[in-house]
Amino acid sequence: MRLVLLGPPGAGKGTQALLLAEKLNVPHISTGDLFRANIGEGTPLGVEAKQYIDAGELVPTDVTARMVKSRLEEEDAGSGFLLDGFPRTVEQAQILAELLEEKGLTLDGVLNFEISTDVVVERMLARGREDDNEEVIRNRLKVYNDETKPLIDHYGDAIVSVDAEGGVEEINGRVMAALGK
Ligand code: ADP
Repeated sequence: MRLVLLGPPGAGKGTQALLLAEKLNVPHISTGDLFRANIGEGTPLGVEAKQYIDAGELVPTDVTARMVKSRLEEEDAGSGFLLDGFPRTVEQAQILAELLEEKGLTLDGVLNFEISTDVVVERMLARGREDDNEEVIRNRLKVYNDETKPLIDHYGDAIVSVDAEGGVEEINGRVMAALGK
């Protein structure tokens, strides 16, 4: 199964993706996790990405898309994937569509995690990641509203909406039901 996970920062996409990856037996590919791994290892990509992430800005699309392309070419992604954090703009969605088209593949759906701003801010402050301070969170939510939200219209009928407020297991149940599993 090839799915894209959409939703504001702090919506719990990563948490749900871990559960889903196990149930659907496909890898969870998170651009945020890939960036953080690169930052941890001090790679040139990590050094470049860090300045944007710390400011709550998007990492430039060419850098991000190259990283995603090479990850999708790894063997485990042959059976499908849960793409978390990419695409984040309509331009990135077009790049993903081209990458898939070259391989003769299509997406099975786009899960959209719906959640109120109050709840996401609360979750992010509780999580306490380095880029989870109030000012950076505010900027990430602005970037989400301006750049990522238009993807909901872009994907149109492919969108599968999930209520992302509640407990982890409860939300997982909704996701599985929405996927017809
Ligand atoms: P969250 O879901 O809380 O926003 P992520 O781990 O998905 O956290 O992303 C953290 C940061 O990584 C983003 O704020 C952004 O700077 C960068 N990032 C992740 N995915 C992308 C992307 N597709 N394009 C550009 N930047 C990205």
